Amino acid sequence: MQLCMDNILIINAGSSSIKFGLYRSNGMQSAASGFAERIGLGDTTLHYRTESSHAISKCIQVESIQESIHEILELLVGPETGVIRSAAEISAVGHRVVHGGEKMKAATLVTDDVRKAIRSCFELAPLHNPPNLQGIEACSEIFPNLPQVAVFDTAFHGTLPEYAYLYALPYNLYETEKIRRYGFHGTSHMSVSKKAAKAMGRCLENLCMATCHLGNGCSISAVSGGKSIDTSMGFTPLEGIPMGTRCGDIDPAVSLFLVRQRGYTVEAVDTLLNRQSGFLGLGGIGSSDMRDIESAMKKGDPGALRALQVFTYRVKKYIGAYAFAMGRLDAIVFTGGIGENSSLVRSLVCQGLESFGVEIDPVQNCGNGSFENDVKDISHPGKPVRVLVVHTDEEMEIAKQVYDVLSGNQC
Ligand code: ADP
Repeated sequence: MQLCMDNILIINAGSSSIKFGLYRSNGMQSAASGFAERIGLGDTTLHYRTESSHAISKCIQVESIQESIHEILELLVGPETGVIRSAAEISAVGHRVVHGGEKMKAATLVTDDVRKAIRSCFELAPLHNPPNLQGIEACSEIFPNLPQVAVFDTAFHGTLPEYAYLYALPYNLYETEKIRRYGFHGTSHMSVSKKAAKAMGRCLENLCMATCHLGNGCSISAVSGGKSIDTSMGFTPLEGIPMGTRCGDIDPAVSLFLVRQRGYTVEAVDTLLNRQSGFLGLGGIGSSDMRDIESAMKKGDPGALRALQVFTYRVKKYIGAYAFAMGRLDAIVFTGGIGENSSLVRSLVCQGLESFGVEIDPVQNCGNGSFENDVKDISHPGKPVRVLVVHTDEEMEIAKQVYDVLSGNQC
């Protein structure tokens, strides 16, 4: 019998924020969504919208993730704002969990063992896994009879071959400390590669794509035959291309130099690499936001131009490396806040690649319209490599995976 699931609640709990969504029709249709920010910082704001009309922002007095979920529920069932009559109409809860380590290679029903596995990755993702688990614990108390499903950001990269996930460090550091490439943004890379294949009218199993998730955090994946075979983020999300405030790839000796020669503490190096670098550090305009970088660049700011040049050059370099790693390139996929919205970044990345069969159509690239099923083809007609802009919706993808886990559809 086909399981029919309405009202799957998705919770993406961070250290001071929660994103949420309620999905109908087996996770295929959004009913309501929103986010609460600055939780526990004294001035929490809850933003909420339904697919039919309401968009609300309100200040709430909450100290914890659990209290915030109660506030979210009140809106979901409220007479003015609600999309369900009571919490009893919710059929399952799905949670985004950033790090699943080596064990968690697919979305899974939350059990005590799964909780233990999430806890065992606290050291690997100290900013993400603890609040992710708090979200699970809070929902287990609020909805004691509902299935809770964990969907891991790392899971899609569980298919990386050993030669792609190992660092050239002494092998025992992998064996004892599990130091290796894990990769992140997996839910997004998986979802956009599926949408891209569908839009191309091709079978995912026969395609090689470079999927570029460019948001505040940025990562690129080589998706061959529907499987991630390499990805730019590594042991932590710091590796890879430059991001809003993270440096991406650097020579590891830079850290040693700063500690030995300049007296930096470990915390100071951490702050420098994770919070003061990327567009913020390179651009020097006091912002890590790509919209600010672009507008400063257009006014002639040399720092903003520098940040854009370094960023787009590195994206191009990764795409090239992954094309060789896969042995072929059928599509370049742009997603995330920058990937979906910045025609300038897309054109700089693809510039000069005509001889490799990559050329974008400037009109399609800059135009607003013509998204079909979340996909816009911006390639020059007739060129062999499709360049696609694909809208990512991580919460909806999590909802679909929750349905797959609970209905036994998971592959
Ligand atoms: P997160 O990784 O936090 O989910 P997003 O995917 O929302 O972030 O991406 C945020 C980034 O997208 C910011 O750098 C923002 O400036 C950029 N962005 C959003 N809209 C545009 C736009 N129209 N043009 C250029 N950059 C944009």
